[in-house]
Amino acid sequence: MKARVRQAVDAHASELEQLARQIFAQPELGFKEHHTASLVHDWFDKLGLAHRDGIGITGTRADLKGGSSGPTVAVLGELDSLLCWEHPDRDPRTGAVHACGHNAQIAMMLGAALALKEVADELSGSVALMAVPAEEYVELEERLKFRQQGQLEFLGGKAEMVRLGAFDDVDIAMMVHATARPEDADIAVGGTNNGMVAKFVRFLGRTSHAGGAPDQGINSLSAARVALAGIDAIRETFRDEDHIRVHPIVTRGGDVVNAIPADVRVEMFCRGASLEAIELAHRKVDRALKAGALALGGEVEITTLPGYLPLHHDPNLVSMFRANAVEIVGSERVRDKGHGGGSTDMGDISHILPTVHPYAGGASGAGHGADYRIDDYTRAVANPAKAMAMTVVDLLSSDARQARQVTAEFKPRMTRAEYLAYLRRMSTTTLFRASDLE
Ligand SMILES: [Zn+2]
Ligand SMILES: [Zn+2]
Repeated sequence: MKARVRQAVDAHASELEQLARQIFAQPELGFKEHHTASLVHDWFDKLGLAHRDGIGITGTRADLKGGSSGPTVAVLGELDSLLCWEHPDRDPRTGAVHACGHNAQIAMMLGAALALKEVADELSGSVALMAVPAEEYVELEERLKFRQQGQLEFLGGKAEMVRLGAFDDVDIAMMVHATARPEDADIAVGGTNNGMVAKFVRFLGRTSHAGGAPDQGINSLSAARVALAGIDAIRETFRDEDHIRVHPIVTRGGDVVNAIPADVRVEMFCRGASLEAIELAHRKVDRALKAGALALGGEVEITTLPGYLPLHHDPNLVSMFRANAVEIVGSERVRDKGHGGGSTDMGDISHILPTVHPYAGGASGAGHGADYRIDDYTRAVANPAKAMAMTVVDLLSSDARQARQVTAEFKPRMTRAEYLAYLRRMSTTTLFRASDLE
């Protein structure tokens, strides 16, 4: 069976590369991936797979049924691009560009789908093929508007798909992310990733003539500068082992140069290796934000949003995936990952389901940077498509013995209900007024 799935991927390798290039040519930001989703719908149709669309605005899922019943393994790919105006291949209207390699993920998910179709009759269980929206947690202000309009509740794609029940019948989840790091070689497995909470912050002051009457104003940009300096001062209290990273951007810094800025907006992540560490760090950050408003006598509105949970791989899935990766690329080209400072909403899935999220090479440049590109589609698409299909064969062949073992040995960190309750608890908006302390 494994030889047959590998042959199937090889037979369609150039079509899959073409699809990855097609998606690269029309990048779309999260929850707006309508064209990319339509390409996935076309492929599902071509494979004869019925699909449910519009889950979390653009998400889609098709089910490949095995010959007999058994567990459900989800194979995921992410639809969204990033935004990088400095990238030469950006969309000139939106700045969107696939600077994180998600275009390769969609192609490899469909590669695994077409390969597993060849052996489906011999599998016990089914494969849920998912194209998931909005992994990049960006454009917070715009997504908050989507939330106000009732189009979504959470700002990340997988949380939305969990909320909408797309994972209710899933037993195991798997996807592979692209990597441009040479030390990751062809396939890198295991390790952990930071989780994070996000903040959308508005410093509210009073506008006045910047030359004629600055004494009449309350400068929100100055409040933001004091707050960001406060955050920098706090950094020495972060412990190395917690891997805290706080990285704000100013998304509105003032409107006209001759008026005191009254509405200054900041977005940021507070990342860390554990939920406890993140909690501690983002509360300290709130203190610094309030200090900025207090210093200038203004106000600050802090919207804290549940971001992503730290990623933990299921060890059984890692060793299964690793063995298949070695078969494809050789042990020299398979590496073990350590802790990553970035975050992914596969971390969320890993809290509720046995999850594996390895990385595949073939890209170069800086991840999220202006020189990021995929150079080698065999490494970026065909290899991981094969490794995922082979791992599904391991899981669902022989009456799904290995899938049942994985689910029996898995201890969820949260139930789905606990997870959704956690996200809702983390979502708060508070207004702090300097006048409250006067
Ligand atoms: Zn990514
Ligand atoms: Zn990314």
